[in-house]
Amino acid sequence: MLDKYERDINYLRVSITDRCNLRCTYCRPKEGFSLKGHDDILRYEDILRIVLQAVRLGLIKVRVTGGEPLVRRGCTDFLSALKKINGLQDISLTTNGMLLDRYAQDIFRAGVQRINISLDSLDKHKYFQITGGGNLEDVLRGIDTAEKVGFSPIKINTVVIRGFNDGEILDFAQLAMDKPFQVRFIEIMPVSDVNADQPTQFLPTSHLYEVISRRFKLEALGQKKNKLDGPARIFKLKGGAGEIGFINPVSDHFCKTCNRLRLTADGKLRSCLLSETEVDLKSALSRSCSDEELAGLIRQAILLKPQKHDLDCTDRHIKKCHRDMSDIGG
Ligand code: SAM
Repeated sequence: MLDKYERDINYLRVSITDRCNLRCTYCRPKEGFSLKGHDDILRYEDILRIVLQAVRLGLIKVRVTGGEPLVRRGCTDFLSALKKINGLQDISLTTNGMLLDRYAQDIFRAGVQRINISLDSLDKHKYFQITGGGNLEDVLRGIDTAEKVGFSPIKINTVVIRGFNDGEILDFAQLAMDKPFQVRFIEIMPVSDVNADQPTQFLPTSHLYEVISRRFKLEALGQKKNKLDGPARIFKLKGGAGEIGFINPVSDHFCKTCNRLRLTADGKLRSCLLSETEVDLKSALSRSCSDEELAGLIRQAILLKPQKHDLDCTDRHIKKCHRDMSDIGG
């Protein structure tokens, strides 16, 4: 699936719901957003059909996300069905972890062993504040269960917010010392209206690298291990059980190596998070389109993939895209 710029587009993020059991302040507005009805989102069988066609074209990796994927009924059965698609080499799940204690075993049994858990604070009051009411204990219990069940790798994703959780950088690094997790720090992006404060909240990952390396010895893990690896720069912590990763969509674009497409819960295929261009697969599916037509629409989305987005650290133009992250699928 080569695009116009010779990138091999082999990775699809699939949002199975726009609903979420948290209200992270930088991700979703407190109010004024409309949730989609049952008929507005893709049925699981439609998603499977899309993935099957994309695999025929060269897709090898799928990440299931949301909203919060575990709030959609039937999620683990859907994962089992995905797992049965021949040629799909890698399936992973991104979750906020609130329901992980309940579902970890079923997800693992469905054949999904790679999991990303979002966690922006290790302080229960701050966690409650940033997530609009989330309970840190639930997530920590979920992470613990995921470890016991045998997930590997377990990646902890932390969006760094200046003035909010930048004082916890070393606590997160300590987590990667103590546990075999990959703790990844992610630069906050200006997505939709919701994070109008992004310019003041933004911290480049280069700053985090400096803070962490004053306390711990970071050993670069070199090049990507394989083509399923993402854009994170990964470091081993000397003497530690886990790893640290830095993901910098703002300070250092990885557009040149971006291999992804996003399928929104309402059936739009989006080739760049920060570009509004979408190809409507749901309408085609509801007129019972042929597999060839579906494949043609997927190819169309790939050819629409822009060379790069235009975010940078000095950017003061908020609203890089209209839809919220929870609506598009992070
Ligand atoms: N509910 C799941 C979760 O919490 O992981 C999946 C969806 S959530 C939208 C996916 C990820 O997007 C989360 O790690 C979240 O922190 C991240 N995210 C949302 N808005 C963001 C922003 N403006 N900049 C950077 N990351 C963002």
